[in-house]
Amino acid sequence: MVNPLPNANVQSEAVSISSDTGDVQHFIDGAFVSSASGATMENIDPATGQVYGSIAAGAQAEVDRAVEAANRAFSIWSKMAPADRSSRLLRLADLIDTNLESLARAESVDTGKPIALARAVDIPRAASNLRYFANAVLHHHSEAYEHQQGASRALSYTLRQPRGVAGTISPWNLPLYLFTWKVAPALATGNTVVAKPSEVTPVTAHRLAALSLEADIPPGVFNIVHGRGDEAGAAIVAHPQIPTITFTGGTATGKHIAATAAPMFKRLALELGGKNPTLVFADCDFETTVSGATRAAFANQGQICLCGSRLLIERSIFEKFTDAFVDRVQSLRQGDPLEESTQQGAVVSLAHQRKVLNAIDVARQEGGTILCGGEAAPAPNDRCRTGYFVKPTVITGLDEHCRTNREEIFGPVVTLMPFDDTDHAIRLANATDYGLAASIWTNNLKRAHHLADRVQAGIIWINCWLVRDLRVPFGGMKQSGVGREGGAEALHFFTEPKSVCLSLDE
Ligand code: NAD
Repeated sequence: MVNPLPNANVQSEAVSISSDTGDVQHFIDGAFVSSASGATMENIDPATGQVYGSIAAGAQAEVDRAVEAANRAFSIWSKMAPADRSSRLLRLADLIDTNLESLARAESVDTGKPIALARAVDIPRAASNLRYFANAVLHHHSEAYEHQQGASRALSYTLRQPRGVAGTISPWNLPLYLFTWKVAPALATGNTVVAKPSEVTPVTAHRLAALSLEADIPPGVFNIVHGRGDEAGAAIVAHPQIPTITFTGGTATGKHIAATAAPMFKRLALELGGKNPTLVFADCDFETTVSGATRAAFANQGQICLCGSRLLIERSIFEKFTDAFVDRVQSLRQGDPLEESTQQGAVVSLAHQRKVLNAIDVARQEGGTILCGGEAAPAPNDRCRTGYFVKPTVITGLDEHCRTNREEIFGPVVTLMPFDDTDHAIRLANATDYGLAASIWTNNLKRAHHLADRVQAGIIWINCWLVRDLRVPFGGMKQSGVGREGGAEALHFFTEPKSVCLSLDE
């Protein structure tokens, strides 16, 4: 296959994808570069609290350069046959698979998450994102309607054209997983990209850039500007030549981004925070539900937007379920994220550890009873003696109106509340400003359907949690976001529909 764009800048610095370095540079026009100002930020390993690399801190100048390169590349990438774009993205997915072990290790070191989780979920899912959209774009079809008005006949059809440069901004909790969730559909549909991963966890995106060269993604098609949200991120959002912005992160940041993007008439997708309920009914499969609710509450140290942080339990089994749940939580193995057996690693940063511990203090002040956890966890070994660990925490005795049950904590903290009947369960489930996800555990199918209809959330799981089919719309209602990603929704988001009407009259 002929590469219609020039080769990547050979001056680009080599990137090792097997060592534990946390050094990160921008990737602009196919080359790794520092900031024009020379500004950098420290990259900290949360399991040790130690600086292990230096991150280029980008600002307006780097975003301008990246947009210039992306605009140049757009004229060629957008015209390339979808099958050619697809084959390069499939190659990138294969390269992620080939480098699974080193990427999983890098993700674990950068985030503090257990390496087993990064290996089983984060990195395979990044490859799946690329593979899914690389294939989906080949089967994406446009609609056509033949119609007649009086004696006149016409055919209307829709062209879906790439929109130009897409700005993608992603968070720290599932770094490569959520980064590729945005970049893959943008590129597959023929857009070029200026991406900003979280400054807290930039390493796997940096390594993906190196792999993109091997996958023959032409220079300028895929650019990364690293740095702080209020500098590099804000410059992407405000850039007049980036018409499409997709953001995943906190609700407060989303509000700020919407305020900038709306008067510029940008197309905007916002995937924001959550305070998700897990509803447990007395007729559930007890053991399966105890494990499901534990996983939903504490996977990735509770740092998944979809985590079930409010556990609502039917009153008749409240005590029995609470005892079994607390036992299960106390048996979670907290440890060095790089150890195979670890189930709970470190939280992502010192600032986040303080935020979570502060939220637990608020729960105490509100009158909550801490059934387990409630404090920083002791270091699991000498290597991690200055790391940021929080014990998995279970709180009870609070009603649905308090801050603890309304505000997102985004850490290993879950609250328990009893409910009396289905209507009460629905009221409690909906007693929050968020509406991202919910999981319902019951063997009564009729009730499950009724709850799926009434609970205000963009994603409902029945007797499971975090089972994801990439074809279904993904996103939240209320303050959990605007718009949907996934499947056809993403392909539509990144393309501009143009309706064409052709007269069929002779
Ligand atoms: P955050 O909002 O602080 O940052 C997210 C990204 O936005 C980062 O890359 C950051 O640098 C950037 N950013 C920050 N300020 C910005 C600004 N003014 N302009 C442009 N970009 C800016 O969020 P976080 O702390 O990284 O992630 C945690 C949050 O993300 C939680 O609220 C969680 O619920 C949410 N989240 C949501 C989903 C979802 O799909 N709904 C998925 C994962 C995480």
